[in-house]
Amino acid sequence: MEYFLTDEQREIRDIARKVAEEKIKPLRAQYVEEGIFPWDVVEVMAKTDLFAVLVPEEYDGISGKVIDLAIVTEELSRVDAGIALSFGGTGLGMYPILISGSDEQKKRWLPEVAAGEALCAFALTEPNAGSDAGAIETTAVRDGDHYVLNGTKQWITNGGEAKYTSVLALTDKAKGARGASMFVVEKGTPGFNYGKKENKMGIRASATRELIFEDCRVPAANLLGREGQGFMIAMRTFDKSRPMVGAQAVGIAQGAYEEAVKFAKVRHQFGKPVSSFQAVQFMLADMATQIEAARALVMATSRMIDSGAKDYAKEAAMCKMFASDTAMKVTVDAIQVMGGSGYMKEYPVEKMMRDAKITQIYEGTNQIMRSVIASNLLKEF
Ligand SMILES: Cc1cc2nc3c(=O)[nH]c(=O)nc-3n(C[C@H](O)[C@H](O)[C@H](O)COP(=O)(O)OP(=O)(O)OC[C@H]3O[C@@H](n4cnc5c(N)ncnc54)[C@H](O)[C@@H]3O)c2cc1C
Repeated sequence: MEYFLTDEQREIRDIARKVAEEKIKPLRAQYVEEGIFPWDVVEVMAKTDLFAVLVPEEYDGISGKVIDLAIVTEELSRVDAGIALSFGGTGLGMYPILISGSDEQKKRWLPEVAAGEALCAFALTEPNAGSDAGAIETTAVRDGDHYVLNGTKQWITNGGEAKYTSVLALTDKAKGARGASMFVVEKGTPGFNYGKKENKMGIRASATRELIFEDCRVPAANLLGREGQGFMIAMRTFDKSRPMVGAQAVGIAQGAYEEAVKFAKVRHQFGKPVSSFQAVQFMLADMATQIEAARALVMATSRMIDSGAKDYAKEAAMCKMFASDTAMKVTVDAIQVMGGSGYMKEYPVEKMMRDAKITQIYEGTNQIMRSVIASNLLKEF
């Protein structure tokens, strides 16, 4: 479908596709097998200005638009969704700064992100606070011109690799979620340590780690917005970043679909390519239609956000939910089209199916997405 991209957006898309095809594809299997963090690809992404896409021009970037983040994420995820997450996770971790940082804070941190010199992470989840984000227990106590952080965050994307992490912590425990505040914590700050690195089913080239804060002194100048605004900043961050997860899911689905079509045209049974059987053709037709519908939702929502719309929680949740359910279905069907070959590690579709699963879980599970959509649509009537 024609999405009427500008010349610059086409250029960004072509660069991301080239990086994915030439730098990621040849090493994909090795990253997946060994679970290595893709620093060499990150360097290429930095050199080709892909990280600059995350940041607005006034902070030395080239865009800052959600649609451009989505374009790059889809292209990288078409080849490897785990590696794509070093980019998308940086977008997620950077959004609290972009949404609520002062001009001085933005000038301090964003140019490094744009240059690809600093990856970011976003730390909300804790052992007792997953879907129930308001149940976090990490605390931040003011002490002079610092806050002292104590607590443990779990399953943090880019954990251990990110230079800057946006961390949600309680500055007023009695107020619960309304007493939460958002801080930027720099790698290497004394008292900020890393726990175990997770051994995951999919997105294996993405680092997922535990973050441990033990009497970690963070300058008060690293508080984003005001005390008590942290939960609101986190929710606005998700609204802006969920189309990125949608784009990641679209990319995974597109990659699996392309593999399935290629295979179906060359695999012969009963003296003909399996693509000549109507049963297979109908599966491919459904896959193509579902991917295009998911992509259209991601593109339309991204444009809505970039246009300056005030409230897009419902549409952002729809993107994430529909695209991730699509990715799961399409990757399972891609394996089916390829038969036993699809089940084998010689082909990338079984990996894509494993990668697709996470998109239904993180940044809010799809059950939570349905709740967000329902509560918003009920308010509209
Ligand atoms: C690979 C990976 C990377 C991640 N990266 C990050 C990151 O960078 N930063 C970060 O902060 N977090 C991250 N997370 C955490 C992720 O956001 C959570 O896993 C997710 O929000 C779900 O929380 P949970 O796993 O604790 O599930 P739970 O909340 O324990 O949910 C278990 C089940 O109950 C359902 N459920 C729970 N509450 C409700 C409800 N009210 N209504 C209906 N159903 C409900 C859920 O849908 C799910 O099916 C990551 C997780 C993974 C696995």
